Amino acid sequence: MERIYIGLGSNLADPAGQLRSAVAALEQLPQTTLAGVSSFYQSDSLLPGQPRYTNAVVALDSSLAPIELLDALQAIENEQGRERLERWGPRTLDLDILLFGDRLIDEPRLKVPHYQIQERAFVLYPLAELAPQDLRLADGRALSDLLAACPFVGLERIFQP
Ligand code: ATP
Ligand code: CA
Ligand code: CA
Repeated sequence: MERIYIGLGSNLADPAGQLRSAVAALEQLPQTTLAGVSSFYQSDSLLPGQPRYTNAVVALDSSLAPIELLDALQAIENEQGRERLERWGPRTLDLDILLFGDRLIDEPRLKVPHYQIQERAFVLYPLAELAPQDLRLADGRALSDLLAACPFVGLERIFQP
């Protein structure tokens, strides 16, 4: 079993409902147990002209291999109507693998830790609700340092777990 953190995002078709459906689907994954769900947060899209996003982070304990998990996440995105029209376009559901145990993964389909974790308050703050305070990423960076460098700006906490 490894501890995995997944970032969830949606800005179409009832975003909070999309996140709740995704949590239910993650709970059903084989060889996997749900270990935690963060609060839900809203923030403006990084790209102008898109609806606001709702984001959360889920902790899983799983013995799936990383690529198996990625396949399963993409299947859940597709089941929830994800259409891939333009890069960073609006979406019903986005599921990103943020951290996978203490693995560093650099494959064409999968980079872990997620490459923009340090830029994204909507990832770091919900992650910090679930992760141990002294968490270090597989590349050695301390979560507390990433948080200190990424102000809680533009985020609105909308639901508590
Ligand atoms: P961003 O990656 O900037 O958050 P995005 O989530 O909108 O953008 P997608 O279109 O959802 O990007 O994914 C593009 C590809 O990224 C996926 O097909 C997948 O193979 C790849 N990918 C690489 N690393 C990861 C990861 N850690 N989690 C999920 N997908 C990843
Ligand atoms: Ca993403
Ligand atoms: Ca993604």
